[in-house]
Amino acid sequence: MTRLPHLSARLQGFGTTIFAEMSALAAQTGALNLGQGFPDTDGPPEVAAAAIEAIRSGQNQYPPGPGTQDLRDAVAEHQARFWNISVNPDSEVLITAGATEALAATMIGLCEVGDEVIVFDPTYDCYAAGIAMAGAKLRPVLLRPPSDPAGNESRSDDRSEGRSDDRASGSAFWFDRRELERAFNAKTRLLLLNTPHNPTGKVFTDDELSFIAELCVRHNVIAVTDEVYEHLVFDGVHRPLCTYPGMAERTLTISSGGKTFSFTGWKIGWAVGPSELVAAVRTAKQFLTFVNGAPFQPAIAAGLRLGDDYFEDFVSTLRAKRDLLCPMLAEAGFDVLEPEGTYFATVDISPLGFDDGIAFCLGLPELAGVVAVPSAVFYKDSDDGARLVRFCFAKKDDLLTDAGNRLITALAPYR
Ligand code: PMP
Ligand code: GLN
Repeated sequence: MTRLPHLSARLQGFGTTIFAEMSALAAQTGALNLGQGFPDTDGPPEVAAAAIEAIRSGQNQYPPGPGTQDLRDAVAEHQARFWNISVNPDSEVLITAGATEALAATMIGLCEVGDEVIVFDPTYDCYAAGIAMAGAKLRPVLLRPPSDPAGNESRSDDRSEGRSDDRASGSAFWFDRRELERAFNAKTRLLLLNTPHNPTGKVFTDDELSFIAELCVRHNVIAVTDEVYEHLVFDGVHRPLCTYPGMAERTLTISSGGKTFSFTGWKIGWAVGPSELVAAVRTAKQFLTFVNGAPFQPAIAAGLRLGDDYFEDFVSTLRAKRDLLCPMLAEAGFDVLEPEGTYFATVDISPLGFDDGIAFCLGLPELAGVVAVPSAVFYKDSDDGARLVRFCFAKKDDLLTDAGNRLITALAPYR
């Protein structure tokens, strides 16, 4: 990694995000872009109309620091409606510039220099950077693919031993419970959990979440959850970590409207939790952006209040896209690690004779006219994800079929 002469030591090595890099490669080569995670169709027209109406009616100046009352109310209603969580919209909800700002403000607002933040590795790319900006230290706990040989180790009755997930299908990524236990120490400040998980598509099971919650309570650690894919669960259910015993008072729940309403460029997110935690995040947030997206706040409020049919159609549409792309990826010769949630499918490229996902993705536009993202970049140690590649399926069916066919044809000589 090249050293940038003017960049602070904290951020050396972060380079350009993989998403910007791969989207630029798609633009340069004209390849089909299944790399960066964004949908290629807009969200609900009534939500777009609410934003247009807000601009026309003059909601264009700074909104209130914590977010508009209407949107904070809508977030609180959403938490109650979907997850049975009761929050005070005045003191326990903060509107942010996407989940990204909520995460950064959380790290900066809650961590002392040198504190440790436990994360499941691989992580979405802004986690490591946010932790570094706060001067804290990332403490990774590996999510292992089902093929990891350690998965064969005995599953003791002692819940602290062995692999975390006891699903019969064995399709899911899993973690070693002892490794998670060992990660907790006197310097642990936060545990940061993303479920459904980007990039693996894992939805943490009820049993895993109970175990994580017990550890947070036992060690008096604050949990921060990134739930931006809360409405994209295909197998299993989403259950917010804050609903587990002892967790409501120690969990900050983060989400955003970008994924749920397919308006990723609007960057309206939120953090919800006990007022003292929200106040700490707000203190940092007000000096990052202060506020953002005045006319998009009422629009996302309208989105959060859409009927159940919207949320049901959204997940079933994306499930159908998963079920369209994954069999084609398998036919192309990949080992497909089918996602339980999110709009990303992870594949192992080794059955095709490849072992370097970064080189594979750099060559894929020329080889097949398709862009994907190498999962290696999401790992603390890139070797752990060297053979894994992520494809985004939040795309029109025709484009997914076209991309699938291109991969099937181009990879034929390697099968
Ligand atoms: N967390 C995860 C897991 C993501 O995939 C993304 C990308 N949407 C974000 C956070 C960032 O969300 P936002 O665009 O709302 O900042
Ligand atoms: N969350 C999206 C992804 O994982 C990308 C967002 C971004 O480009 N920062 O692909």
